[in-house]
Amino acid sequence: MRVNAAVLEQYGDPLRLRELELDEPGPQEVLVRIAATGVCASDAHTRAGRIPSPLPVVLGHEGAGVVVATGSEVGHVAAGDHVALSWMPSCGRCRHCEGGRPVLCAVSAPALLGGTLMDGGVRMRDEGRDVHHYSFLSTFADHAVVPAASAVRIRDDVPLAVAALVGCGVLTGYGSVVNRAKVAPGSSVLIYGAGGVGLSAVMAACNSGALRVIVVDPKADKRDGATAFGATHVIDPSERPVVETVRAMTDGLGADVSIDAVGGEGVLGEAFDATATGGTIVCVGVPGPDAYAAVPGARFVREEKYLTGSLYGSSRPGQDIPALLNLFAAGRLPVDKLISRTYPLERINDTFDDMLAGELRRGVVVLDEALAW
Ligand SMILES: [Zn+2]
Ligand SMILES: [Zn+2]
Repeated sequence: MRVNAAVLEQYGDPLRLRELELDEPGPQEVLVRIAATGVCASDAHTRAGRIPSPLPVVLGHEGAGVVVATGSEVGHVAAGDHVALSWMPSCGRCRHCEGGRPVLCAVSAPALLGGTLMDGGVRMRDEGRDVHHYSFLSTFADHAVVPAASAVRIRDDVPLAVAALVGCGVLTGYGSVVNRAKVAPGSSVLIYGAGGVGLSAVMAACNSGALRVIVVDPKADKRDGATAFGATHVIDPSERPVVETVRAMTDGLGADVSIDAVGGEGVLGEAFDATATGGTIVCVGVPGPDAYAAVPGARFVREEKYLTGSLYGSSRPGQDIPALLNLFAAGRLPVDKLISRTYPLERINDTFDDMLAGELRRGVVVLDEALAW
């Protein structure tokens, strides 16, 4: 079939709208009509070449839609089902999948980086030339063929624009707090960054019963947003020293848990100092490829701090995405308020510009207005 897609031909270029040829889904694949897709920092990193991908590629990895057709071996979804898309389909059989950590799947990871589906092939072509997939999904298009394991069936009474965001940014931020840090009631939680991921971490900390939720962001409107989502304290790092300020806010102890949703230079070292003895630092934002993390070695031992990464919220997407949408439907996870602006596919490059200007919590490209809401 013919589909409309935004294609990245060269790093640094704007995305170009093209009509591509899309194959039928294979036996273990699903054809999805994309209703809406968020634009995530990772997409911008790849557009700029900081996260490499085979080119040309259709970016987009935060989407939701409706199943159009399924391969012959697919049983868990059928045409007409609403699905949120997981960018880390798990094989179910490798040691990480067997061990309950499917986002570390050893089978999926190489194909993800290779820009293909699970069998090493692509399903999109531009006048005969192969076009690569991005994180198995390529949601900057009105239709996508995705691995069956990426299609997570969801309730059909939540807006697909909301479900799209849960498919990457929300799960990433929320899961870093709940699954990785396992924040306990009464904790103090420090969060760097008040974009879509950081605000999802704020919501998770609040839902976990954190006593203090402290957010660091240099932009005033982002800090206001954090307060609206439940942060108890905000810090402008250009005005106040973060470590001393956090200690003053936490009876001199420091934060029990620190979440770095930025990945910027110097954040990890500062978060280490702002974290209480015995506390946990979770790195979520992905630094540049040459970044090297360092912490003071002796204090790392003596203060028994935990330092850990968290990929995709350390989640089990097939369970966690529906669970988060249940929280949304119950009014306890206002994901819809993360959406700052919506755009048609024709204006997708504006979404990148606005995001890079720091104007958005999340920008959402709506591909099917009737389905998205
Ligand atoms: Zn993402
Ligand atoms: Zn696996």
